[in-house]
Amino acid sequence: MWADLGPVGRVASGGYRRFVWTREDAALREWFAGEAAARGLDLVEDRVGNQWAWWWDGPGTVDDAVRAGHTGVAIGSHLDSVPDGGAFDGPLGVVSSFAAVDALRASGVVPGRPIAVTHFIDEEGARFGIACAGSRVLTGALDADRARALTDGDGVTYADAFAAAGRDPQALGRDEETLARVGCFVELHVEQGRALVDLGAPVAVASDIWPHGRWRFDFPGEANHAGTTRLEDRKDAMLGYADLVLAARAGAAERGCVATVGKVAVTPGGINAIPSHVTGWLDTRGTDEGQVRALVDDLETRVQQHGATVTRESWTPTTRFDTDLADRLRRVLGSTDELSVPVLGTGAGHDAGILSGAGIPTAMLFVRNPTGISHNPVEHAETQDCHAGVEALAACLTDLVADQP
Ligand SMILES: [Zn+2]
Repeated sequence: MWADLGPVGRVASGGYRRFVWTREDAALREWFAGEAAARGLDLVEDRVGNQWAWWWDGPGTVDDAVRAGHTGVAIGSHLDSVPDGGAFDGPLGVVSSFAAVDALRASGVVPGRPIAVTHFIDEEGARFGIACAGSRVLTGALDADRARALTDGDGVTYADAFAAAGRDPQALGRDEETLARVGCFVELHVEQGRALVDLGAPVAVASDIWPHGRWRFDFPGEANHAGTTRLEDRKDAMLGYADLVLAARAGAAERGCVATVGKVAVTPGGINAIPSHVTGWLDTRGTDEGQVRALVDDLETRVQQHGATVTRESWTPTTRFDTDLADRLRRVLGSTDELSVPVLGTGAGHDAGILSGAGIPTAMLFVRNPTGISHNPVEHAETQDCHAGVEALAACLTDLVADQP
């Protein structure tokens, strides 16, 4: 599976550019469909375009099983990437999920509940700016009208991109039918940040996702000649933007958060033209919701002197994963104390967080990342640790499908 996925969307940096509703995305969907077909799983696409590969050998259909109280156990992750992202963020979870299905079959497990391997689309939000768009629209956390109106860097709307991919934009929206099938969700993911290498453990169970959000800052200016305009006559939009970047860093350090301005658009974008408009996007997160909000408030106040406008593009409060499910998974994984199967919080958002917010019991497993580096072509996990992840996921899945509600 890894070898087949390897070339899809690979760029010169050695990283990946896999953005929603592009040619690369279509290749990933085709790969997923092929893996589902090779295992005789029933492929279902929800209203949003997320893919679900169902395994149910019991009596009747998946929906019959759900009506009888045997709701599905979903496992999976995403396949898209940030610009020049690594190979593991997302795909490791999907590949491990198919491998876990194989492991259950090899050991003769007969599931008492339906199992779905899931591919959530557009988790990184690299093209349209909203992270976890696939799971957000599925659960209604992102309004369908707002999703349809999102635009990419070329001005293409989400609705048009969706239609160009052969789907009906009017069908976008919360998908009750799909949600009703999902009794719980477990997402395996490569660790982002560095904890497991110091703890000497290959796999961890997640406790929570930090509160996080994205804001757009628009700074006005006036285009003029870089050589002939006196400094005192300039209205340079870049100066306010520069102030934001430095203030975000200093404020984050003060408040124990993290803040990043990782994307900027400059108009007109000429070396010898004073910028008439600068848009910068801020991403902030932290363990303490109050501090994250306060940091953004401070920055909003500060940029007023530059005439900037601030738009909140997304906000996700602290997400605590289901403690019963997490405890259950830790028991299955042979945990007797915190160190044998560590419990970690994370500053990274995930589809699992969105499903959890929608009231679905949800858990995550993290697989050790030796350097902690992620969203970078060098992102890595050792093969041995990936196998440990598959074994852990298979053990959890075996336990969960033995459940007869
Ligand atoms: Zn991810």
